[in-house]
Order: sequence, then C-alpha cells, then structure tokens
Amino acid sequence: MKSLQLIEEKKLELVDGPAPDAPAETEVQVAMKSIALNHIDVWGYRGMAFAQRTLPIVVGAEGVGEIVAIGSGVSNFKPGDKVALYGGKTCGHCPACTEGRDNLCENIAGVMGFHVDGMAAELINIEARLVIPIPDGISWTDAACAPVTFSTVEHMLFDNAKLKRGEKILIHAAGSGIGSTAIRMAKDLDCEVFTTVGSDEKVEKAKALGADHVINYNEKRFESYVRRQTGKKGVDVVFEHIGPDTWAGSIFALKRGGRLVTCGSTSGVSAETNLFSVFQQQLHIFGSFGASMRNVADGLDKMARGIRPVIDSEFDVGDLQSGLDRLINRQVFGKVVIHMG
Ligand SMILES: [Zn+2]
Repeated sequence: MKSLQLIEEKKLELVDGPAPDAPAETEVQVAMKSIALNHIDVWGYRGMAFAQRTLPIVVGAEGVGEIVAIGSGVSNFKPGDKVALYGGKTCGHCPACTEGRDNLCENIAGVMGFHVDGMAAELINIEARLVIPIPDGISWTDAACAPVTFSTVEHMLFDNAKLKRGEKILIHAAGSGIGSTAIRMAKDLDCEVFTTVGSDEKVEKAKALGADHVINYNEKRFESYVRRQTGKKGVDVVFEHIGPDTWAGSIFALKRGGRLVTCGSTSGVSAETNLFSVFQQQLHIFGSFGASMRNVADGLDKMARGIRPVIDSEFDVGDLQSGLDRLINRQVFGKVVIHMG
C-alpha cells in the first residue's frame, strides 16, 4: 500500500508499505480518494516547534474516500459508502465530545497528518464515529474540501460570529481556501462582502466569486476603504486569518458592537490591539479552531445544494509537493486537491 510520508522536515516520499489489518470492531476501512491541502500542511512540512510528533508521518489532514470494509460492531455504514473523515482524534466521551463540540475535546490524541498519521494513504482504518456520509451528487474533488475548509468556515461564520442575512462582512484573502469559501457562504445570505487580495489578477477572480468590494491591500488601506464605503460605521463582521499584517486594520474596520472571528495568523503570532477600540466600540473577538462533526455535515449539505469550493489546481499524490509549493508561494486561488489515483 502506498502512502505519502514526511520523512524529515521538508522531505516528502511516496512509500510502499503493508496495508492495514482488517478494521477493528468499531472501525471502518476507507480507500482514500482525494485530499485537500491547508496551511496546517505547510506548518507540518516546515516543522513547527509546538508539534509533538515522530517522523516519518503520513501527511494529509483533510480527505474523503470510500468504505471498503467495516468492523463487526458497525451498523450505520456499509462498503461502498462515500465518506468524509474527521481529522481530529477525539475521545468521543468527554463533555465536549458528548455535547457535539468535538473541536474542544479534552483528550484529543492529535490531528491527522500533523501529529499522527494522516490521510494520504491508499487505505486507512478509522473509528466509524469519525466519518461523515457524503450526500449524492458531490465530486470527490469538492467533497475533499468539506472536512476542514467548509467546516472551519461554518464554525467561524455561524457558530462564532453568528453572521446574519444581509450583514456587511470583511473577508480577508479571497484567494485562500477559507476566504473563497467564506465569500460564497456570505453571498448565499445576501451579505455585502468586502474582501482583500494581494494582486490585480486576483481582483477579477474575487469579483467573479461575487464579492461586492475587492481591495488590493498592496495598493490601498483596506480599513480606510471599508469605513468610507460604510458611512464611517464599519462592518458587522470581520473574518480574520492573517494576523499582524491586518489585525489593527481589522479591528478598525468593525462597527460598534461588531464581531471579529479569527482562525489563523499566517503573517506571525503577535499583534498590537487597541484596547480602547475593544471596549469603547464594544467589540466581540472570537478565536476559532477547527470545527465540529456537525459543521462538516452542514458544509456537505451546502455543497449538495450548490455552494461549491473554488478549486485552484489538482495533482496526483506523487506530486503533492507541487501543490504545497503553490500554497507556500501564495500562488493559489482556492483549494489545491490531491488525488490518490
Ligand atoms: Zn473528547
């Protein structure tokens, strides 16, 4: 069985090894079809100080496949079912897990593809409680963007920021996987969408996605533009994942009582915050990481009714490095998807 492994930092290798045993009582065995790449793959590839792991490790944190065998105790799935895999090794029995807040599990044993072996393998055994059925009519390519990308955006916009129909929202980095997804989900609610991009080429692509205002952050200050366009009031919601490069402007772009939700910090780890703005403007700041299993299912349902991910490019598993390079070099517009072949 082939799997793509990180042998050492910044060195990927397609490895031929033994296939997994038959699935245990509560497990299913999945033939993996497609993997979507995320920034967590870049962090994993470069090696992050906080990651406790032992190399080599199978990469891939977001993926989908077809069930080929089930354990003796599994009754809700059968071979042939198409499923999305939840990448967090949750315990399933702590208060957070039993309340459906899976990403707050108190005993999480790691994130697949980052701390523990991931999804870029021909066959995987996984607990049946950690797979989510894929509705009919969704391609493998699109479905591969549900377990992390769509679910992360669901969790940010609806569980945390509680985005409502018709609100004004600033979404950073239209070209990113979550940025492009957030634009489509916000436009589905008839929101007025402001978004940022880093090049003129991406301006047109962001407009084509439905964004009402596209700001090239290399040419003008997005926060001034947003305030001008909203009668100096600011937006209801800011969708953050950039960090120090945009943080102060994002705070400034919010209206009184506005909500900022962040799930990432690709430009660094620390940023200054104007505390007067936070309390005088009565801002709400939400930290968001990952998503629940329900968010994955909700994301798949949205795909089934036509909200599709933006696909930047597709590669075979042996060429995952090319996809990763597009992410590292910020060339992407949308998702990079890898096929197991
Ligand atoms: Zn738990």
